[in-house]
This record gives sequence, structure tokens and C-alpha cells, in this order.
Amino acid sequence: MSFFARLFFLLACYFVAAPTFVNAAVPGTECPVLDATDALARKSIMHYVCFHQASPGYPGHDAAYPGELPEDFKWTPSLGHELAFSQTRSVYWIRLNLSNNERERRLWYLSLNYPLLDEVTFWQGDDPGDTLVTGDKQPFSSRAVDYRYFLLPLALASGETLSVTIRIRSSGALNIPLRLETPSELIAGSNHLTLTHGLFYGTVLVLAIFNLFLFFSSRTAYYLHNAFYMGALGIFLFAMGGFANQYLWPSSPELANTAIPFSLLLCTLAMILFGRSFLEVTKHTLADKTLRVMIWLCAGVTGLTLILPYSQAILFNTALGLTTIFILSIIAISRWRQGYQPAKWYVLAWMVMAAGALIYASAAFGYLSDFLARESLMQVVVGGQVILLNYAMVQRWRLLNNKLLEAEQAARSELEYRVHERTAQLRSTMRELENANRKLATLSLNDQLTGLYNRRHMDNVLPELCAEARRTGQPLTIALVDADHFKIINDTWGHSFGDTCLQLIADILTRHVKRPRDITIRFGGEEFALLLPGTDTAGAQKVCKALLKDLHTTAVTAPDGARAGITLSAGIASLLPGEDQQELFERADSALYEAKARGRNQTVIAGT
Ligand code: GH3
Ligand code: MG
Ligand code: MG
Repeated sequence: MSFFARLFFLLACYFVAAPTFVNAAVPGTECPVLDATDALARKSIMHYVCFHQASPGYPGHDAAYPGELPEDFKWTPSLGHELAFSQTRSVYWIRLNLSNNERERRLWYLSLNYPLLDEVTFWQGDDPGDTLVTGDKQPFSSRAVDYRYFLLPLALASGETLSVTIRIRSSGALNIPLRLETPSELIAGSNHLTLTHGLFYGTVLVLAIFNLFLFFSSRTAYYLHNAFYMGALGIFLFAMGGFANQYLWPSSPELANTAIPFSLLLCTLAMILFGRSFLEVTKHTLADKTLRVMIWLCAGVTGLTLILPYSQAILFNTALGLTTIFILSIIAISRWRQGYQPAKWYVLAWMVMAAGALIYASAAFGYLSDFLARESLMQVVVGGQVILLNYAMVQRWRLLNNKLLEAEQAARSELEYRVHERTAQLRSTMRELENANRKLATLSLNDQLTGLYNRRHMDNVLPELCAEARRTGQPLTIALVDADHFKIINDTWGHSFGDTCLQLIADILTRHVKRPRDITIRFGGEEFALLLPGTDTAGAQKVCKALLKDLHTTAVTAPDGARAGITLSAGIASLLPGEDQQELFERADSALYEAKARGRNQTVIAGT
């Protein structure tokens, strides 16, 4: 790309510095007289204008006023062509003969609609005294009328013929668009132009301020660069159009010539800065390096612009500007091809700008006539570019916004997934915890060997059962059951066999104690308790006798094959009025003790 860039730069340099363009015309003919009262003749003023290009050293180059021109001075008729000359050191003499064929004195304005001419001198007749010296190297007050273009009021008496001579010296290119208008035509034309210029500069200013606000609120660099670009472009066109001389620095003509190349340079710098940030050019790539070089070049040329003469500064800066547009277009196209969508609108904006800038530069450098029309075209082009660039920024904003929304959506989905995952984990942990709790509860209230309730359960329920019996008047009986001489069984056949016997006893107890509300408890080693709500002592005795008999008659075979005779003793007590569970238990225990004492394998009911 840098090869193309260099090639384009060279072409651009050649283009703006090409040799003088000479308007096609036939020399030697006398200048005709324009009847100023004829509107059609005024419209075709260029058919009446003659000119003479006096190169350095030739007659006319140093003449101070028309009277000093040599006798054989050759005027060339312009034959209807606009006069436009590229960079030259010649002096241009223009002549227009006009007459007033009306019966009364009339006023016309001869206007030279190109504001960038260094020195313009008007003479009415050959008299050196009747002179107007103006040009953009003079203070603005030198103008005959406070107007951005050069105006010469021409008052002709009835039947008078006047020869107007203009001498133009300028260091840049020359456009000499001449118009002859009545005051009312001039005012109407000026009004129309004021409206379009007002709209144009107003829009550029508002958009620049708007972008500045966007920058302050979003801190996004390219808004600032865009504001900078529009500001610089606005000032450049303002200066090119002659407005800056009129409104910004009317009494500093030296600024007029520096401001144009300088603001053009600022435009170029702003274009690069904006392009770099907007296109998101990746750092350390060829594109990035090229743009960096361009930025440094602009910075370096800033100093030069202030030192160099206008003609060279404008030439160099125009070449730099056109090269920049070219390079930015190439980078934007490659970014577009990389799939960066906002680059599409950016490319379009620069294509429009490139075309407009080429035409405008051609007109400004004298290669195309009718600078005024090119100026309007440039305004349309800049308007189009500004709209496209702002649209490109909206696109970029949309792209960023979409990315943001996608990221937010992804984060939300991820979060939801995590929450689901955690909730599932929590549920399963809670289920495990519940199971563990249930097991723990069972373990804590049950006896591990026999599966019967343990002493803790008895301690929990016995007070409640006592309270209920007292409240309802229903009987509550407890039976304490103890294995007889169990120590001997352990000692004879081992502890393991003892355990088996205890399980057998538990089975028999469970089988006999079968009412829904009955509770069987193993509360000590070989000690059991039966809690029998709603059962009186007789009922309890019946149950005890039945289970004692059952065990006594059950054949239990010991590990050595012998028959192990296991018997139980039971002590029964029913809750007495005013008695608490402790007293009830003690009475049952006493009855059990009594049963043991009476020889075991029997049931005793506690006395009252
Ligand atoms: P008594 O007829 O007077 O009740 O005599 P006993 O031997 O049954 O009474 P004692 O209270 O002197 O002994 C109870 C024995 O029960 C002691 C112990 O060897 C046995 N024992 C207690 N708990 C267990 C147990 O969980 N498993 C086994 N195998 N034996 C136990
Ligand atoms: Mg015991
Ligand atoms: Mg015992």
C-alpha cells in the first residue's frame, strides 16, 4: 500500500504544480463594447472581456497604471471562456469596455467572484487617479463594498462609454470569474448565496458542537476527532470562500494567506486522527505505522506552513491532503473487507469527499473554470460526507451496543446456569442432610441390637403417657421384664450368643405387645419395659404371663448344641392417682425384684 501511496503523492504533487494553463483564445482582436443596459449582454460578459498575461520581463509586467502600457499592447479576447490560470508569476491585465445606452445615469457592479487574489487594482479609464486598490493582502476596509468578493461600483452617465482595466497579481492560482450586475441583481444573488452558506456553515458548526458534547459525555476519542475535523474543514472552506477575511480577521491580511494552508493541514491531521480511532486500526500494523508517519508529517509541516510562501505551502498541503484521503480510503476498504461493518459507510463518505476535493482543488488551482459552482459542489459534497460519517458513527455505536447486549445476555445466561446448578446441588445436599437427620433420629431413639426403642425414648414418652392417663382417667400400666441369670448364659456360651438371646427375647416381646399404642423398650442390658396405655394390671399380667410362657417353651439351642433355657421375670405396676412416673417405675421395679426373689420365671403385680 505504501508504494501506491507514494505514487499517488507524486501524481498529486505533479497535478497541483503542473505548468501554466493558458486559456484558449485568439490574440490581436479589439475588445468589443458591452451594452450594460442589455441583460443578455451582461450575462455573456466573458464575450466582451479581454486579457493580457504579462510574464516577468515582458511589457506590462511592471506598468503602474493603464496609461503606462505600451502602444502595441495586445489584448486577447476571452471569447466567452472563464479566465482561470494555474500557479504563475505573471501579471494579468483585464479590460472591459462598457456603455450606458439609457437616457439616464445608471449604476452597475462589476464583481470578481474569487476571494483569494493577493492584489486587485481597478481603473476606470486610463487615468491613474480613478483607482481602487484591494486584494486579500490589503485590509478588508480597502473593498469598495463590505462583501466577501471584490466589487467595483460603476456609475455611467447616459450615453457614456467607459473602459475598465483590472490588474491582478497573485502568488497562488488565479480564477477571474467576472459578473456585471445591477444592484438589485447583486442583492438577490447575494441573498440566495447567504441562505445556502448559512445552512451549510450552520450545519457544520452544530454537528461539530454536537460531536464535542458526545465526546464529553462518552469520552470516545473519535467524537472529538470528528468535531476537530468538522471545525477545521469549516474554517478552511470559510477562509477559501472569503468569509474569514470578512468576518474573522478583516484587518489582518497577512493571516488570510497563512490561514488557508494552515487550516487545510489541520483538516488533514483531523482526518487521520478520526480515521485511526474510528476504523480501530490495529496497533503496529502497516496501516497504523503509515498513519503515524502521516501524523508526524503533518506536525512537521505545521512549522513549514508558517514559513513557506503561500503558493508553496498550499501546493504541498493540498498534495498531503489528497494523499491522506487516498491512504485512508485504502485502509477503510481493507477494514471493510476484514468484516468491520461501519467501515463501509466510512469508505462511501471518503469516496464522495475524494471526488469533491479533486474537483474543488482543480478549480482552486485554475484547471477548471467557474470556482463559484465548484464551491457549491464542495458544500454539497462536504454535507454528504458529514451525513455519511455521522451515519457511520451511528452504525459503529449500534455495533458496540449489540456487542454489549450480547455480552450482557451471555453473562446473564451463565449466571442463570450457575444459579440452577447451585440450587440443584443445594437440594441434593439438603436431601442427604434430611436422610442423615432421619437416621440420626432413629439411631438416637432406638436400640441398635434389638431394634426396640431405647431408654431415651422411654424418658421422652413416659411423662406424656402419665399426664394423658391422669387427664383421661384411662389406666396406664408398665411392666419391667428382666432375663433370669443372664450372666450365666454369657459366661457359658459367650457374649455373642447372649446377644442372639436378647434379640430372641425382643422378638417375643414384640409379638406379644401388639396394641397400636403399646411401646416395647430395651432400657438396660437384659432389662426391658412394656408401656401399656389403656391397659390395667390384669391385662398386663395376661400379656406377661403369655410371653414368659412363650419364651420358656421356646427351644433355644446353644452353640455347643445344648439346650439353653431362658426365662424372664416381670414386675407390673399401674399408675396411681397423684403418682409421677418415677414412683410408678420404682413400684414396678420392686415388683420385679419380688418376682426374682420368689424364684424367677414369674410375674408379680406391685402393691399399692
Ligand atoms: P438375675 O436373674 O438376678 O437378673 O441375674 P442376672 O445374671 O441376669 O443379673 P445381673 O444383673 O447380675 O447380670 C446381668 C447380665 O446380663 C450381665 C451381663 O453379662 C448380661 N448382659 C447385660 N447386657 C448385655 C448385652 O447387651 N449382651 C449380652 N450378651 N449380655 C448382656
Ligand atoms: Mg438385670
Ligand atoms: Mg437378669
